[in-house]
Amino acid sequence: MKKLLLFLLIPVFILAYRIDIQKWNKFSTFYGFLKQNSLPYSIYYNLPAKLKRYVRNIAKNETIFILRENNNFKEALIPINSQKQLQIIKNNNKYFTKIIPIIYNTEEKEVKVTINSYLSYDLYKATHLSILTNKIINIFNDRVNFRTLPKGTTISIIYDEKKRFSEIRNVKIVFAQIKNRFYSVNAFLNPIDNRYYDEKGRSLRGMFLKAPLRYTRISSPFGMRFHPILHKWRMHDGVDFVNKIGTPIHSVADGKIIYKGWIRGYGRSVEIRHKNGYMTLYAHLHGWPRGIYVGKWVKQGTVIGYLGNSGLSTGPHLHFGVMHNGKWVNPLKLKNNVKITLYGKKRRRFFAYIKQFTKENNINIALK
Ligand SMILES: [Zn+2]
Repeated sequence: MKKLLLFLLIPVFILAYRIDIQKWNKFSTFYGFLKQNSLPYSIYYNLPAKLKRYVRNIAKNETIFILRENNNFKEALIPINSQKQLQIIKNNNKYFTKIIPIIYNTEEKEVKVTINSYLSYDLYKATHLSILTNKIINIFNDRVNFRTLPKGTTISIIYDEKKRFSEIRNVKIVFAQIKNRFYSVNAFLNPIDNRYYDEKGRSLRGMFLKAPLRYTRISSPFGMRFHPILHKWRMHDGVDFVNKIGTPIHSVADGKIIYKGWIRGYGRSVEIRHKNGYMTLYAHLHGWPRGIYVGKWVKQGTVIGYLGNSGLSTGPHLHFGVMHNGKWVNPLKLKNNVKITLYGKKRRRFFAYIKQFTKENNINIALK
């Protein structure tokens, strides 16, 4: 027995290959990298111009793999973007470079966490992944109030870990469930459109974002008010959000831009038409990003302007209005009223998918 053990250990000692893992920190330059690893500068000079530009801009914290044989450099792999890496090979004392795809391997993982302290802490403790928390909040934000999660809430997640060697590069949540004694919300990633839907085929995301911007406060709500400039009682048919000039303004829903320009009183504005008889107005803008024009289709979240002070305005703010079937409605009251639901062929394909998925993963949910 002892003999056998010794025999098994020998190959480990005579193994001459070693992989070094180096981090590309913010002080690294490609020259610095070559110098540190005793590689000739000619590697850089001989690169095509386009590649030179890439290697001068390698993102900080990228992971470099270096293979050595008997302490001699054999090969290096340096990622230049999320898909491609630069390979440097030493052969007969000559160096060769090549661009090759980065090979990722995907591993499916499962985790179930009971929230005892708070979401980010408990999720991190169970998975050692800090990005999961944000992803979960993003998926469920329109359905679940994360500030008031009841005691004993459990979160189950099935996710794919995308790895380059041993390093986790990305995480894709394919299923998640938040459950407590008051409610249970399920989110399936629909492979057809990459959006999350529940077991009834309703989108987890409301039709509207909660607000079109990050704001510091609301200076004027929807309703009657004494107008600060006109000094008269007037109906305020929108909501005024305050923040700094230049704050990006996002379209609150998918739609088509139907107006871009100056509106009396409102200043620089954008109007977007959405499904189900909705129209939104973004006013007092400072300006618009490039590529915003009448007729353009925008997605929920697209930046359509920047907060400003144009038109009849007492200070930098966004006037945000929502019209439904020709009538102004309170933008703060509609956030989750309308759900995007799958219909027809898309719905059948989604249900075929989740039927299979729940069976394979032993998930016990009543499907419609
Ligand atoms: Zn206003």
